[in-house]
Amino acid sequence: MPNSSDEGSIPTSKQRRQLPSPPLGAPLAGGELSANLTSIRDTFSNRHHSLDFAYSHAHYLRHRVLAMGIIFALLAPLWALVDIVMLPRELLGTTLAGRAALVAGLVGVLLLAKVSRERIGRVRLSAGLLLALPAVFYALVLALLPAGEAERLAGYGFIPFLLVAALSVFPFTILESLGAGLAMLCLLVFAQTADGSWLTPTGLEGLWLLASLLVVSLAANHFQLSLLMRVYRQATHDPLTGLFNRGALKLHLDKLQAWRREEQAGRSLPACAVLMLDIDHFKRINDTHGHSVGDTVLAEFARVLVNQTRTEDCVARYGGEEFVILLVNTDTRRAREVAERIRQAVEQHHFPDHDHQRVPVTTSVGVALIGDAEPAEAALKRADAALYRAKDAGRNRVMGDAPLPPNSPA
Ligand code: GH3
Ligand code: MG
Ligand code: MG
Repeated sequence: MPNSSDEGSIPTSKQRRQLPSPPLGAPLAGGELSANLTSIRDTFSNRHHSLDFAYSHAHYLRHRVLAMGIIFALLAPLWALVDIVMLPRELLGTTLAGRAALVAGLVGVLLLAKVSRERIGRVRLSAGLLLALPAVFYALVLALLPAGEAERLAGYGFIPFLLVAALSVFPFTILESLGAGLAMLCLLVFAQTADGSWLTPTGLEGLWLLASLLVVSLAANHFQLSLLMRVYRQATHDPLTGLFNRGALKLHLDKLQAWRREEQAGRSLPACAVLMLDIDHFKRINDTHGHSVGDTVLAEFARVLVNQTRTEDCVARYGGEEFVILLVNTDTRRAREVAERIRQAVEQHHFPDHDHQRVPVTTSVGVALIGDAEPAEAALKRADAALYRAKDAGRNRVMGDAPLPPNSPA
């Protein structure tokens, strides 16, 4: 594949990175082909998660935060009854005020999770706060207790254990749970130094129990996140090419249009374009070389599309040998440039047959800009009409749904 920087040649990955980035907050897709199904690498941290999976992940995590937040917010005031019976008068006021602050904090976490929607960063923050607040409350009560009074606390010692067990309820990555679990171990050590059980058989038993619970929670995190990835992948991806399927593309287009309307209210909307691509005379390839070579061509074709677009773009298999690319923050001129580069990249790519000989493959492309107010399907229809004009005009070419502005160089 040529890699020169001449006009019209196929861009290097460096050149692709130089395309303008999509605006902050836009729903983005991409990175799919590099997402390995359920390896430890994928559940260990979120570094390799695709942008679109982050939305599904956030959606699932947010529901858990809301459910656990309600449970914690109900349990926290209930235990005040035990405090009233067990604690000395001089401590009661501070502890009850601490409980009230804890409930207020938990309500705050619930509100944060509610408004965070699918923003993974904020949802993660609300999950972290949900676990941190009871831990901080326990640590403060311990710090405020006069020496020798710690053993009078009833119903507090289980807090680090409850929180480590709760880690397994959330689809956290192993790294996230490991961080939270180590913090809980520190909390337990602090509690044990306060009540004098540190380095006693009872204290060691507690530490061992917490460490074992943490290992079980880490395993639960791995299995939960793997399952989530597997289900997400099966529902949203085409198994042959690894690209988004038509249903996922539709959802992504809806998300993008909603974002353009909501987030950009009053400002000019960022231009977004769709490319519709169809492999020319694909039936001939099947008939000449067989379906397995046809399948290889489809998979290789998908790879070319992914290589020629940014990680944030949504590349989908629309049907048999038809593909759609959604380009965010891309005007008509740039969209046509990208389409032309893809067309050339396909023409120059080595698609192998059974004997590793080159199968000539070309593609026709229709380009349309998504209008501000129209449903995205309307733009898809226009891109489809442009694609069929490209077919009628002789194939292996790019057609737009409208003429380019007069001063446009492309
Ligand atoms: P045109 O240039 O007009 O697009 O012609 P074409 O031959 O590409 O289009 P046509 O719609 O006649 O044929 C598409 C073929 O794609 C027919 C179908 O058997 C084949 N096809 C669809 N899905 C798959 C697949 O998953 N694997 C393989 N090998 N072939 C497929
Ligand atoms: Mg075709
Ligand atoms: Mg077709």
